Amino acid sequence: MDNSLVAPPTPSDQNTSAELFRKMMLGVSVMCGFTHLAFLVLFHVNGIRDMALVNVGSILCYVLTFVLALRHQVTLAWMLITTEVVGHAVLAVYYIGWDSGFHIYIMCVPPVMVVSTLPVWRGKVPVVTGLMALYLWLDYARRDATPLFELDRPVLNGVHYFTVVTALTILVLLAGMYYRFVLQSEQQLREMATTDPLTRLRNRRSVLDTSVAEAAKQRRDGRPLSFILCDVDHFKMVNDTHGHQAGDDVLKAVAKILRSGVREVDHAARWGGEEFLLLLPETASPGAELVANRLREAISELQVPGKDGPLKVTMTFGISNLHLNEPIEQAIARADKALYQGKRGGRNRVELAPEDVLLRA
Ligand code: GH3
Ligand code: MG
Ligand code: MG
Repeated sequence: MDNSLVAPPTPSDQNTSAELFRKMMLGVSVMCGFTHLAFLVLFHVNGIRDMALVNVGSILCYVLTFVLALRHQVTLAWMLITTEVVGHAVLAVYYIGWDSGFHIYIMCVPPVMVVSTLPVWRGKVPVVTGLMALYLWLDYARRDATPLFELDRPVLNGVHYFTVVTALTILVLLAGMYYRFVLQSEQQLREMATTDPLTRLRNRRSVLDTSVAEAAKQRRDGRPLSFILCDVDHFKMVNDTHGHQAGDDVLKAVAKILRSGVREVDHAARWGGEEFLLLLPETASPGAELVANRLREAISELQVPGKDGPLKVTMTFGISNLHLNEPIEQAIARADKALYQGKRGGRNRVELAPEDVLLRA
């Protein structure tokens, strides 16, 4: 068996932390853009022209960060967002006072900074430390200071609660977004760890895990369990004559027949190279022989389009039954022996392990 030709699974672009952070930046730009739009209306309605103008600038800034994130310039987008959030917060605290609550927005930055793509020691650590220091300084210098522009108390209260609610909402949405990304990545990694990338069948490790679980069931209720190990005949010749790509196409076509030719409850896996393992729960030798012969015929009729006309292949099948209380490796080894027997007997055949012939009746 030769696994060297199988490309190792690599994380797709969809799955890298950089891509997750880019999507986060798109979300942040939209959320912050709309928050500033709401502030623009609020300040405009209350006649605070300067702050309304600042919000026009902020909205334009978030349009720009959205475009930057779209163009994969994520670090630049995030630096711009950080500058805007912090600058805007400091300005608002000076202008309309600590009670406006704008300083809370500064607290939303460090959690996102931690999951950003910036380097740890030359990016995240100094920026987060700097933000903490800035926050403390702002608190110390401005908490009891008189703002440059004193808003009426009801308006200030309105701004304050609006700030609290939007900052909390942004944090919750960001956490939710991140959680969803983590779940998606986990799902993709699980799939990569259990799936053969070429044929999309289960891989060897996955089918071994399933075999252990099915064997435990068999032990519990004494139902039969069959293994079919099958191998493409003279596959080396296919590669040598028609090229490696044609060989891959044949493997994909064979895998499709194997998967669609067994029941939903059965398991089809790539055991390695051009060898496949089928696991048939609640199936004894006669049933497994029937399935193997049906698959053998289907594969012998298969025509895979190739450069020099359609390619035809045959397959040899070895079958074994799992005996009560025997390790699955032992049963698979018997299927392997039967397969070898089939190869020696002329290929394109189905062979039952000699020890299991007695179970046929
Ligand atoms: P037999 O009938 O006895 O099984 O002969 P065979 O030629 O099929 O067996 P052999 O073990 O000599 O050759 C298997 C070949 O399968 C050699 C290897 O390069 C090829 N192979 C294994 N994995 C892949 C793959 O993923 N893609 C392609 N194209 N070829 C593969
Ligand atoms: Mg082989
Ligand atoms: Mg072979």
